[in-house]
Amino acid sequence: MDHSKINLLVRLQHLDNQIEKIVSLQKGLPEEINALEEDLAFTVKQIETRTAKNEEHLKLRQHLNETANACREKIDAFREKQTLARNNKEYDALSKQIEYEEKEIALAEIGLQDISQGEQRTREMQEKGRQLIAENRYDEISDDMMPDDVLAQQLEDFKKQTEQKNEELNGIVIETAEEVAALQKQIDAQRDLLATEAKRLLDKYDHLRSGSLRNAVVPLNRNACSGCNTRVPTNRHTMIVQGGFYLCESCGRIVVHERLFEEADD
Ligand SMILES: [Zn+2]
Repeated sequence: MDHSKINLLVRLQHLDNQIEKIVSLQKGLPEEINALEEDLAFTVKQIETRTAKNEEHLKLRQHLNETANACREKIDAFREKQTLARNNKEYDALSKQIEYEEKEIALAEIGLQDISQGEQRTREMQEKGRQLIAENRYDEISDDMMPDDVLAQQLEDFKKQTEQKNEELNGIVIETAEEVAALQKQIDAQRDLLATEAKRLLDKYDHLRSGSLRNAVVPLNRNACSGCNTRVPTNRHTMIVQGGFYLCESCGRIVVHERLFEEADD
């Protein structure tokens, strides 16, 4: 059996492992940054929604106040006219107009009350939220309960954290860029070599790594596949010791002797 082909593949796995190790230096930072950015976007949206609602209330309140004031002015004018009314018919007609304007004022006042009550409810919700925060009962706080100032502080915190994590990640990426580029070059060359010398092994390797699995070639460890810990049949040990490979029956990984990885490091 030609064992040199498997050595070529172990070398490729060894190089890929080194890149993985460098990427793992990023300590999950990309995922952490993604999560932070999502939190940040959600907080921004919450604040925007609240601001829009406040502006809408302000406008509506202004409009209702103007309406009521205009009605009051009209009423004053009608009363003035009433003092000059020449007969009951004219007087009654003016009374009816005054009544109409009074109804309009009442409607405007109901509208204003609704706004105030809504705002009162919002304040009460936020007060409840503040209390829950003080008691560390965070999981009971709904979005509406988050006090405005806490939400604003949260936004600042998320911004700062995202910035810090991005800086940290960029630092690592810059530090390791050269090493990664050099390794990538070696990997490309190794793959070219395998493509001509051991195409089927390379295909098998790529197939195994097409999912989330990264270690397609693994060392035999305590007579088991170190990828999934399934025991390797005794009658295969000799072949592995001699430098051959075994396809794990359980996970499909390529199992080789540990020694081959040491040799690949040279
Ligand atoms: Zn296995």
